[in-house]
Amino acid sequence: MNTEAPTDPALREEMIATVRKWVAREVIPVASDLEHVDAYPHDLVEQMKEMGLFGITMPEEYGGLGLDLLTYIGVIEELAYGWMTLSGVLNTHTMCATLIKTYGTAAQKERWLPPMVTGTPRGALSLSEPDAGTDTRNIACRAVRDGDEWIVNGTKAWVTNGERAGIVALAARTEEGVSAFIVEKEPGPAFEGLSTSKNVGKLGYRGIETVEMAYVDHRIPADALVGEPGRGLPQILSVLEVGRINIAARAVGVARAAFDAALAYAQQRVTMGKPIGEHQAIQLKLADMATKLEAARLLTRSAAERKQAGLRCDVEAGMAKLFASEAAFEIATESMRIHGGVGYTTDLPVERYFRDAPLMIIGEGTNEIQRIVIARGLLARATET
Ligand SMILES: Cc1cc2nc3c(=O)[nH]c(=O)nc-3n(C[C@H](O)[C@H](O)[C@H](O)COP(=O)(O)OP(=O)(O)OC[C@H]3O[C@@H](n4cnc5c(N)ncnc54)[C@H](O)[C@@H]3O)c2cc1C
Repeated sequence: MNTEAPTDPALREEMIATVRKWVAREVIPVASDLEHVDAYPHDLVEQMKEMGLFGITMPEEYGGLGLDLLTYIGVIEELAYGWMTLSGVLNTHTMCATLIKTYGTAAQKERWLPPMVTGTPRGALSLSEPDAGTDTRNIACRAVRDGDEWIVNGTKAWVTNGERAGIVALAARTEEGVSAFIVEKEPGPAFEGLSTSKNVGKLGYRGIETVEMAYVDHRIPADALVGEPGRGLPQILSVLEVGRINIAARAVGVARAAFDAALAYAQQRVTMGKPIGEHQAIQLKLADMATKLEAARLLTRSAAERKQAGLRCDVEAGMAKLFASEAAFEIATESMRIHGGVGYTTDLPVERYFRDAPLMIIGEGTNEIQRIVIARGLLARATET
């Protein structure tokens, strides 16, 4: 996903515009209704498969669309504009496939990528545990070699798409340290020593399941190991760098939806004889919201450009994720305030933006941790020069 040839800008725009039109036609009319009952968007996911989105950044030799990171984040922004959950459905899958693409052997790529680009099976990324979210040093799930197999024992937490996934990128401790594995499973709640909990109830980000997964003497083949043993954390963290840029793009999508709703409402709603958009108090909000939105988009694009050029971008991805997610939360809150009472009802999607936005502050490294990543990166660069 990172250092391949950039996509032709016209093709990139065409792809993003196709998704934008699809979101307007198919997603926006149904998103709030599905979200309110926590319903998985089966039909929409099928349509995403038909558009090739599950292989959007995968090489054409494996059947993917071979498009670049800038195209990917443009698509993610459009999906999140309609319903953030759809960008989550795609991103967990893409991170799992990216791990295989980047660190897998030729045989592993041949085996897993061609089916994954079709969206069947779908992928999940399982790093976190009940006592190891930020603190990945605490990863306790173990994989022990037994002849031609590994035996996995432990509990993983917060696995988005965990039940429906057929392929899970798993971080588990081996003799050498944390290693990355690919676990194949049948979609469903239980599979040969591997069980998933019921869906965790969430404030937002509904419609997609987030589950705990318990491994009890679960056997996986020796060649399920991806990359070098003991190198699982840096491998997964490099995939998460793309994940952070993706979170920033998601945040831009949610922020844009919240801003557009506020701008439209500010022109319709009349108080004291004029549209509220003509009251200076509302104008100040709109100006601040639009400025933050534009800054978030530019930071996100700039981080993606660096990543795509193969340049180090730990600092830039962290900055984009930090700024865009905080901006999305602020813009969603301000949009609700501009809507007054109706902004607090389930009749309008503004309340959904307000519930979805905080996830971007927590996911893929909390914003507290982003600040630490940014500061350490800056200090390291200062020492290098
Ligand atoms: C809806 C949802 C979906 C998720 N999906 C996935 C997924 O698909 N795969 C996956 O692997 N994980 C997933 N996660 C897990 C997510 O990445 C973690 O929740 C996140 O990394 C934070 O870990 P934690 O919840 O254990 O919080 P903790 O690590 O316990 O942190 C608690 C608080 O302490 C702060 N803190 C912790 N350490 C420090 C420090 N050193 N300095 C300063 N502050 C600190 C944190 O910023 C936070 O404010 C998901 C989480 C959610 C909520």
